[in-house]
Amino acid sequence: MNQQTTKGTALVTGASSGIGATYAQRLANRGYDLLLVARDQQRLEALAETLSKDTGVKVEVLKADLTDSADLQRVVQRLRSDGAISLLVNNAGVAINGTLAEGDAGKVDTLIQLNIVALTHLSAAAASSFSAAGRGAIINLASVVALIPEMFNAVYSASKAYVLSLTQTLQAEVSSKGVQVQAVLPGVTRTEIWERSGMDASALPPEMIMEVGEMVDAALAGFDQGEGVTIPSLPDAADWQAMVIARTHLGPNLSRNQAAARYK
Ligand code: NAP
Repeated sequence: MNQQTTKGTALVTGASSGIGATYAQRLANRGYDLLLVARDQQRLEALAETLSKDTGVKVEVLKADLTDSADLQRVVQRLRSDGAISLLVNNAGVAINGTLAEGDAGKVDTLIQLNIVALTHLSAAAASSFSAAGRGAIINLASVVALIPEMFNAVYSASKAYVLSLTQTLQAEVSSKGVQVQAVLPGVTRTEIWERSGMDASALPPEMIMEVGEMVDAALAGFDQGEGVTIPSLPDAADWQAMVIARTHLGPNLSRNQAAARYK
């Protein structure tokens, strides 16, 4: 099928598998041209060929290890210089397993470089280009562990809390400039991330595990509805709203010129 594209180009990081590959497929169906970023060039090229054949959109592969500063800078420069890019999906991420005390320092550094440093620089570049253009969107993949840090690895959970926090600040900074920003908080989603990080998702109750297509479709439905934070599995949106209201209630008392009476 040949499709006229008017949506611009979506840059998807971590597009070689799982959630990123599924975003690429869904965005191609929506008429976005694609710029697919990950380390595995062969997988990216196979996906690019299938998607361009199936949908008629233009698909380009950009091989990059986003933990490598030179590679990251190439992607940042592309975001800053390519005016056709209208959507960034900051999806590339790794997980690790085990306690903080027993963790492998090298794996911790890699996680921080990818989940935090790369995502930050790519978000900044997109925010700058899209704000100047007065249009565009940024989708950042956080996780529900941002809200339940006691349940999972400390560094992974903290990295996803960082993504949520950064994304919320970014929303406040750029929404008035015509840029849409969304944080997506998936629960357990069936992808390679589990085996890659040495965990066995099949040991979890099946009712906790979502198929990747359903997760991405729900996240894109939240994006279409203009949600700032999307939790694909949360049955009642009022539960998230209650959390936002509780946080707003704290607001006026979080910084005052006197300590609380109980500390005196
Ligand atoms: P996945 O299937 O393991 O995919 C991860 C992607 O990131 C792959 O395309 C991988 O490609 C890429 N990647 C890994 N290291 C990279 C690097 N150094 N440079 C560039 N790309 C790199 O995992 P997924 O589940 O789809 O995860 C996608 C995002 O969703 C992650 O941010 C993850 O934290 C988040 N998430 C996942 C779940 C879940 O249960 N699956 C839940 C909540 C949030 P290459 O190996 O080709 O580089």
